[in-house]
Amino acid sequence: MASDAKRILLVEDEKAIRDAVAAYLDREGYWVVGVGDGQAAVEEFEKHNFDLVILDLMLPKLSGERVCRFIRDKNSVVPIIMLTAKGEVEDRIIGFELGADDYIVKPFSPRELVARVRAIFRRAHAEPQVEVLDFGDLVIDISGHKILVDGKNVDLTASEFKLLATLARHPGRVYNRMELVEKVLGYDFEGYERTIDSHVKNLRAKLGDDPRHPKWLFTVHGVGYRFEAYKPEENASEGASDK
Ligand code: CA
Repeated sequence: MASDAKRILLVEDEKAIRDAVAAYLDREGYWVVGVGDGQAAVEEFEKHNFDLVILDLMLPKLSGERVCRFIRDKNSVVPIIMLTAKGEVEDRIIGFELGADDYIVKPFSPRELVARVRAIFRRAHAEPQVEVLDFGDLVIDISGHKILVDGKNVDLTASEFKLLATLARHPGRVYNRMELVEKVLGYDFEGYERTIDSHVKNLRAKLGDDPRHPKWLFTVHGVGYRFEAYKPEENASEGASDK
């Protein structure tokens, strides 16, 4: 193992799947810690700095949901890929609401999972060196991977951050959901609309952006979303000239 190898926490109670996935990741040069229950996952997460977590939803001792919440409390940016056996839209949405960045439905091929892992690391690596978008009440520090709302740090998941940064780099430009899926998740994705909607919903809650009277994130009905650089003066006079 190279000392600079990416560290992956693999949480899966089915030993055959865990061993197969671990073997694939190991062959790709990743450093893998595999555990078989939620309690062990939490303990390992506290012991090491992981670059990515692969997390089964149905786990003994502590559920994948609980583990996901725990990880997000500790670390808002480490990418999480959820493994779900059911493949129901509801399960996927739950995963994203918990702050997962991606999910994969069982049965899956370890090769596909490894491709997703690589895509996530590639996206993280492709971030520009120094970039700060300053919209006054909202400051997006792309290079530092953090945002300030009214001067306060707000934690976003990797996917929420990517979504916000994508929209905010081009204020006024309308992105359809498929474009956002490609930019944020990096590939074609079944059930994409609900996924992006779910990320936008989380983002709005964190930004304190009211969807009925948005400051920043605007829904473009039947198409997708756009970001606007908020200007209090213009918005204040808008009401009077509306009719
Ligand atoms: Ca399981």
